[in-house]
Amino acid sequence: MAAERYRSLSFWHDSLADDLTPRASLSGDHAADVAIVGAGYTGLWTAYYLKKAQPGLEVTIVEAEIAGFGASGRNGGWCLGALAGIDKWLADPARRDGAISLMRAMFDAVDEVGRVTEAEEISCDYAKGGTISVATTAPHVGMLQRQVEEFRSLGFGEEDFGWLDPGECRSRIGTRRNLGGMFMSHCAAIHPAKLVRGLAEVVERLGVRIYELSPVRSIGERTVLTDSGQVRAGVVLRATEGYTPRLLRHGRKLIPIHTMMVATEPLPESVWDEIGLAERETFGDPRRVTIYGLRTADGRLAFGGRGEYYFGSGIRDTFPPDDAGFRRVQHTLVDLFPALREAEITHRWGGPVGVPRDWRPSVGLNRLSGRAWAGGYVGEGVAASNLAGRTVADLILERETELVGLPWVGTPFPRWEPEPVRWVGVKAIRALAESVDATEMRSGKTPKLRSRVLRSFVG
Ligand SMILES: Cc1cc2nc3c(=O)[nH]c(=O)nc-3n(C[C@H](O)[C@H](O)[C@H](O)COP(=O)(O)OP(=O)(O)OC[C@H]3O[C@@H](n4cnc5c(N)ncnc54)[C@H](O)[C@@H]3O)c2cc1C
Repeated sequence: MAAERYRSLSFWHDSLADDLTPRASLSGDHAADVAIVGAGYTGLWTAYYLKKAQPGLEVTIVEAEIAGFGASGRNGGWCLGALAGIDKWLADPARRDGAISLMRAMFDAVDEVGRVTEAEEISCDYAKGGTISVATTAPHVGMLQRQVEEFRSLGFGEEDFGWLDPGECRSRIGTRRNLGGMFMSHCAAIHPAKLVRGLAEVVERLGVRIYELSPVRSIGERTVLTDSGQVRAGVVLRATEGYTPRLLRHGRKLIPIHTMMVATEPLPESVWDEIGLAERETFGDPRRVTIYGLRTADGRLAFGGRGEYYFGSGIRDTFPPDDAGFRRVQHTLVDLFPALREAEITHRWGGPVGVPRDWRPSVGLNRLSGRAWAGGYVGEGVAASNLAGRTVADLILERETELVGLPWVGTPFPRWEPEPVRWVGVKAIRALAESVDATEMRSGKTPKLRSRVLRSFVG
């Protein structure tokens, strides 16, 4: 892919000053202490913390395209202090204490991203304005108020989660339907591509070798194999997230579910006066088919929603502009903010997120085989990958820190079903989620049975 094609991957890539020229690719035999497959946030944060702790360590990253090609370069820009699937652990008395520690570690990860980017002079438009989940239907009100109460009962305070009454909520965000909302302070808006490209430069300065345009075919015994070379290493970290099924013998660990985004042209102040988001709060609502948005530093609205799963874990990085996913996202955006009806959509893009069978991310290291893994963030990996990177670094360096005792450490991903069962199951869950959302929107009531069935699958 030429540099120009990388630029067209997303609004974020298109707005970089960096010319996106690929680094050299891997050729011949190399040795390292740690080899990392994938130069997204997970791989780069791990390399960063390894080199900060032990500058003499040899760390090599092997990337199929360029650093930031994957989800890390094109996401929704929410650096969020939460982890997919944690609600189930919080609800389970046997796991609750560990889950609370994990949640607090995630809060800290949001601040850690802010601290490191400032210290390393990575300018990624970081703004910690919190996040608002708006009640856009009557059932959302009860849902969100219950969530605030549950967080309170677990010991989280007003400074973490709060309920905004309709007046307060409308003063912060001008969605057409706005019945109040939940505010969570632990979220920063970022420019994802500036973060990942900046991190790659920082780790390179620390002495990490990054090879690009070097697709790894397989991860063998302490070896990373490409068509033109290999790296032997004491530990090999797999940091390939939604692309994991492409690796030999990894077809059923994670599935790629695509999520689609659009960005408007820079909007005039008169429109921002209606929309709000003065603190660059990120926003969504609690519908089942996730939506997410933010105000970019240059005054656009970037907005996205969950898209497709393709048969056989097919992966797409480019999409035709008339893809149905974009139409759905754009329709939802204008439905939320009618003031955007005339706004030009300048960019449309999408990409895969990695979804494990139990919808719960995991990090770990098998000392016997030297294989490490991190990911399965289900679309919430911006801050989580920072915590993952620190944790994997501690595991590799055999440090007995609090992080290595957190409950997402060490449990390998359960396998997904083979096709066509997988495709049928994912499509059925998606259809169920859409039908629950549509009924709530239409009737103002939650269809109880369908909602319970859905919860039993995805929490
Ligand atoms: C459109 C979109 C919106 C999102 N919005 C948000 C959000 O707002 N907040 C949030 O927290 N999360 C969001 N996410 C998810 C988040 O971006 C990811 O969880 C996170 O970036 C994962 O980082 P990673 O490094 O693990 O994976 P990636 O960034 O996907 O990196 C994996 C890298 O591995 C490389 N690779 C893959 N296979 C191979 C191979 N065989 N050999 C060598 N290299 C390989 C890829 O090219 C890629 O560069 C979103 C994702 C998408 C796609």
